[in-house]
Amino acid sequence: MASAVVVGAGIGGLAAAMDLLAQGVSVDVFEAHSRVGGKAGISLSDGVAFDTGPSILTMPDVFDALFDRCGATFRERVTLVAPSPVFRYLYPDDVAVDVHLDLDDTLASVASSLGSDARDQLTAFLKQSKRIWDIAGPQFVYGPAPTVGHVLGLGPAAWISMTGIDAHRTMLGAIRKTVKDKHLQWLLARYATYNGSDPRTAPATLNCIAWVELGLGGFGVSGGMHALALAMAQVIRERGGRIHLDSPVAQVLTDNRRAVGVRVHETDHHADAVVINADVAHLIADLLPGRLPTPKTERSTSGFTAVVRSRARSDRAAHTVVFPHDYDAEFADMFDARRPPAAPTVYACAQSTAHERPGWDDAEPVFLMANAPATDDDVDYSALREQVLSRAIAAGLVSADEPVVWERTPTDLAAQYPRTGGAIYGAASTDRFAAFRRPNNRTSVPGLFVASGSAHPGGGVPLCALSGVQAAKQVLRDLAKPR
Ligand SMILES: Cc1cc2nc3c(=O)[nH]c(=O)nc-3n(C[C@H](O)[C@H](O)[C@H](O)COP(=O)(O)OP(=O)(O)OC[C@H]3O[C@@H](n4cnc5c(N)ncnc54)[C@H](O)[C@@H]3O)c2cc1C
Repeated sequence: MASAVVVGAGIGGLAAAMDLLAQGVSVDVFEAHSRVGGKAGISLSDGVAFDTGPSILTMPDVFDALFDRCGATFRERVTLVAPSPVFRYLYPDDVAVDVHLDLDDTLASVASSLGSDARDQLTAFLKQSKRIWDIAGPQFVYGPAPTVGHVLGLGPAAWISMTGIDAHRTMLGAIRKTVKDKHLQWLLARYATYNGSDPRTAPATLNCIAWVELGLGGFGVSGGMHALALAMAQVIRERGGRIHLDSPVAQVLTDNRRAVGVRVHETDHHADAVVINADVAHLIADLLPGRLPTPKTERSTSGFTAVVRSRARSDRAAHTVVFPHDYDAEFADMFDARRPPAAPTVYACAQSTAHERPGWDDAEPVFLMANAPATDDDVDYSALREQVLSRAIAAGLVSADEPVVWERTPTDLAAQYPRTGGAIYGAASTDRFAAFRRPNNRTSVPGLFVASGSAHPGGGVPLCALSGVQAAKQVLRDLAKPR
């Protein structure tokens, strides 16, 4: 029986393990921490668990297919939640825009808050956004890592259709061309931050994220986002896979230049293939130094995050975004000056509303977040923390007397996930060539594969799962070769 070890029980590692088990490969997952899920993690306060990572699930079809291949039904194991509204966007001029799961409801809400011109602009924009997704989704997201050779080999018809992915414009440039309403411009530009990128430089291809969320939908997960990781781990165990917690891998073992296993707690575990779910930078610098080139990608953004134990209230939306007075200045702070934003956009997720998470008797966990650059430097985040809390209080999302029960700075995140600098989504999409620069799921070291937000196709829960799916496919192809 062929065997594989997976280093890391984040979403990418769990997905790779599931697909390998589905194909009859024996799998051992080694996870440094004491729980599965990686950045899709939880913490606990006074007996109540809350999510500390992702808070919205897009592209649930990725998990339908993955569970299905393992003989399990995703929707029986994980219940998706559709709160209404899903998102509330609050602007400095007191305008509020609600976004719903149903696109027609969202368009009606935009018409009512911003007028029918804005609604028509959004309709036109989403038509472009869907077109990009229809072309880019199969080629750059669901498929294997793109290479220039592969794209050239597709032939003239595909090249012509490929111009539809709008890679030559920037996200923000394309948004401003179609959408004149400033409120909508900000709402749409914010999707760049879904993979930790700068909308001023990221290719307009990323405008497809607007379609993925507004057209296809963003969901909650009953019991919290971490329940997704638990469900994946359960399938792995049911299929005979072994998940070893508190098991940090110190080294990838090689024999005759091929990866043949890993060393954990001074013990060697041999396998036919090694899949690394840890950040690619950790692999290159620590686990197998000197064998792989440093990828020419840039880190995605990090963020300051906190959870407030906040009294239940009916007027709080599942997700709220509070924009600052000058959204452009936030990007200039983060990507030009590379410092925490002086006046950040504040994001809040009311976890009982969004995810039916049981809270404390009279209170629910409200997760707060502001973006900040990923960094290895020791940065003072006290001003950013103060901004996040005071702006959340001013927006009526939490009250001044409600306690912060958990918080994490980019420095803390960096300490938990080696060599990431606290990057939340792995690698960013800085320009139109970014997709080609992401590490391929099959590395140049035989027997060694990568699956995470720092590899193809990128960060965010569904894409990390697809990274695992692609890594598993490459492992299976490799195992099928005669040796
Ligand atoms: C605050 C926050 C908000 C987010 N919001 C969203 C959102 O709303 N929607 C969304 O889709 N995504 C969101 N994301 C991003 C999403 O959570 C991540 O992209 C995804 O979970 C990362 O998965 P991954 O496969 O890259 O693995 P990771 O989560 O990075 O896990 C890697 C695992 O490898 C382990 N590891 C590392 N080194 C070793 C070693 N040497 N030995 C053994 N184990 C090791 C780590 O402990 C970790 O468990 C958010 C993330 C954060 C932190």
